[in-house]
Amino acid sequence: MMRTDLPPGDADVLTRLGQLHADIDARVQAIRAEAPAWLCGKGCGGCCRRLAAVPQLTATEWAFLQPALAALPSAQLSAIARAMAQLAAHAARPVTCPLLDQASDACTVYAHRPVACRTYGFYAQRDKGLYCGDIEAQVAAGQLADVVWGNHDAIDQRLAQLGETRALTDWFARWQASAAF
Ligand code: SF4
Ligand code: SF4
Repeated sequence: MMRTDLPPGDADVLTRLGQLHADIDARVQAIRAEAPAWLCGKGCGGCCRRLAAVPQLTATEWAFLQPALAALPSAQLSAIARAMAQLAAHAARPVTCPLLDQASDACTVYAHRPVACRTYGFYAQRDKGLYCGDIEAQVAAGQLADVVWGNHDAIDQRLAQLGETRALTDWFARWQASAAF
């Protein structure tokens, strides 16, 4: 684990990330309770296939995600490494996340996925709006009128306390270059 990338002198960042996950989960559960037919869920990988850019994550998120990658079967990790290298060399848009399992349309590290992936579809930012066309269609049809969206500005403020932000491909390349890979 690349603990040296965590904010210096702050041993509690992983605990803070866990609290952030718990708070997001609570909001997601509240939204699902209001709208049981909400589309998002493991196995709906549409957003993972049409990312505007390579996912960005903080040092703490990477420290949480990396052990899950390390635990994958070696053949799967090798395939991810090839996808990472292709993406780093030629980042055509939209981006398909190299951590998406194409067969199941599910994230290979779902329980350890970045915060941006946990909030996507459930949180809104006043100046950025919604990005999932499927959910936007539901909104346009008036199906989600009573939903109280999460506030992504507040999430960003908390992420700013969790260390430097880098692209997933950058974190992966740094790990690959280290003796731990
Ligand atoms: S944001 Fe859209 S594509 Fe992504 S999981 Fe939710 S419904 Fe599926
Ligand atoms: S990390 Fe997982 S959830 Fe996030 S974009 Fe990649 S495949 Fe999708």
